Amino acid sequence: MGPEKNGAGRFRAFTSRDLDGLLRRMGLSGEERLGLRAVAAVLPFRTNAYVVDEVIDWSAAPDDPIFRLTFPQVGMLPAPDLKQMAGLIAGEAPAAEVRRAAHEIRMRLNPHPSGQLDANVPVHEGRRLEGLQHKYPETVLVFPRPGQTCHAYCTYCFRWPQFVGEPELRIATDDMASTTAYLRAHPEVTSVLVTGGDPLVMSAEVLRRTVEPLLGIDSVQSIRIGTKSLAFWPYRFVTDRDADDLLRLFAQVAESGRNLALMAHFTHPQELRPAVVREAMRRIRDTGAVIRCQGPLVRGINDSAEAWAGLWSETTRLGAVPYYQFVERDTGPQGFFGVPLARGYRIFRDAYAQVTGLARTVRGPVMSAMPGKVSVDGITEVGGEKVFVLHLIQARDPALVNRPFFAAYDEDATWFTDLKPAFGASQFLPGLDAT
Ligand SMILES: *Cc1c(COP(=O)(O)O)cnc(C)c1O
Repeated sequence: MGPEKNGAGRFRAFTSRDLDGLLRRMGLSGEERLGLRAVAAVLPFRTNAYVVDEVIDWSAAPDDPIFRLTFPQVGMLPAPDLKQMAGLIAGEAPAAEVRRAAHEIRMRLNPHPSGQLDANVPVHEGRRLEGLQHKYPETVLVFPRPGQTCHAYCTYCFRWPQFVGEPELRIATDDMASTTAYLRAHPEVTSVLVTGGDPLVMSAEVLRRTVEPLLGIDSVQSIRIGTKSLAFWPYRFVTDRDADDLLRLFAQVAESGRNLALMAHFTHPQELRPAVVREAMRRIRDTGAVIRCQGPLVRGINDSAEAWAGLWSETTRLGAVPYYQFVERDTGPQGFFGVPLARGYRIFRDAYAQVTGLARTVRGPVMSAMPGKVSVDGITEVGGEKVFVLHLIQARDPALVNRPFFAAYDEDATWFTDLKPAFGASQFLPGLDAT
């Protein structure tokens, strides 16, 4: 598997149909392959020739972090579910039966945590605007329908229900007229985040249908694009047929007097190794866009201070700005990928202590929880009680932003809902409950 196979610039996806063949190339036994195919029948699987040929270090597989980033692992499903799916696949059960079993397993995996489907959907003139999320006053998320896939899927994806053929769980819109009407009626929204999926799976022409209407709204000061394409398909910005057109669209946003922020999802410094990534980042920055980097802390992939210090240092060297380190959400395979908050905090601190101040723009570990973005700031002792120190970086209720609060220390807590107020209090803050 050498880079020459990729024929730099031609995108080629691998899906669950190709999984068995890819795993055979790795020399996995029939039983091992069956387990991974069972996982891929429930959770999304997609990778591509660039990731396979240029980013994964096959000499380190199956422990290689990028292998684990895109290839299923048996621990991702609860053991009884894995056994059931493997049995159905081995027994060549009818497709409808496999689909039904997969659906039932998915519904038990908390597909939309933190009120994703309901709590954040804005209402305009009595109508719910599906495909938008408005949780914090100044930012609206837009999920353009043609952007609801990715160049490859991360095994730990928190938006996994977008990609598994469960249409009623999909968040998406085609309706830019209602979107712009809503934004005009809400001048407090200064930032629009175009997200997915990955909006950069769309052609420049289709992306322009989402971005250009925003340039006519004075109150919108910044446009963000959430993307994993720098890690999964950097040729998007270099050799794709419409790469120059895409970069012109970025430049057009900057020329309109707005900030274009490419919110780049990076997981591991190994993703920054191919020369084409650096070339892509240079071309993006040349348009006046800013690249900000974020990603979750994931067990077995990047749960070390070296990985994070490497990621923040390398991205800073390349002119990008470290933004958030997320805690893996309480959905899908979180039981497999989650890192306890206490351990996550220590990893963050040890990495943060190693990097230049230029990279200490990063905040984390951060939980995107029901009340807002909760940062785990420290572990300390107050009046003889061991506690977590936390604060909300963003909150549904802006009155709660940036006020320190305390939770009883719990070595095993993995999510906000596992925490209890310290000192026997009934609330974390007035108006902030342990829910
Ligand atoms: C993180 C997030 C935002 C953006 O918050 P910033 O702190 O401005 O990056 C907006 N909406 C939702 C739902 C979010 O999770």
